[in-house]
Amino acid sequence: MKTFSRVVIETDLNKIKKLLIEKEDENWKFISFLKTWDIPSEEIDAIVQKLYKKISSEIDCKKCANCCKQMKPVLDIKDIQKLSKGLGLSVSQFKSKYLTKDSELENYIFNQNPCPFLKANLCSNYALRPECCKSYPYLHKSDFSSRLINVIVNFSICPIVFNVYECLKDEI
Ligand code: SF4
Ligand code: SF4
Repeated sequence: MKTFSRVVIETDLNKIKKLLIEKEDENWKFISFLKTWDIPSEEIDAIVQKLYKKISSEIDCKKCANCCKQMKPVLDIKDIQKLSKGLGLSVSQFKSKYLTKDSELENYIFNQNPCPFLKANLCSNYALRPECCKSYPYLHKSDFSSRLINVIVNFSICPIVFNVYECLKDEI
């Protein structure tokens, strides 16, 4: 395996979209390879987490905010209680003002995209943001190989995920 060597980190979302179209076959082949790759999951997690640390330190989320524009994070009851309290609203007022239910899973999600708390590309309630937002794009989590569907969804949204995936191909 090569060490981390990729120099160009792509952050232009339009270029990433084009590259994803060009690389569609290659990406699916690599996903198939990862699914069947016979190494301990801890080893692949360690590679992904090393790349994630390196690449996320080189991408400025404040200039991007694409996840807050495209994603609808799921809020659990603790997230809802924390945000309601912080905004001086009752839980029912908060739900009716900001939330709706996901039609398939019946989870609470924000009722609009971009997120109603995104102001001038920044989270206006950063300290109160839902756990799902804190964890995004989930690359610090273990068992990467079992979450490849998440990766496919997220590499067109998040430049960090796109670049980690590209560098992962280089590493392997
Ligand atoms: S709560 Fe904040 S971090 Fe989460 S989606 Fe909204 S703006 Fe983004
Ligand atoms: S989409 Fe990715 S790079 Fe952009 S703000 Fe969200 S986590 Fe950061």
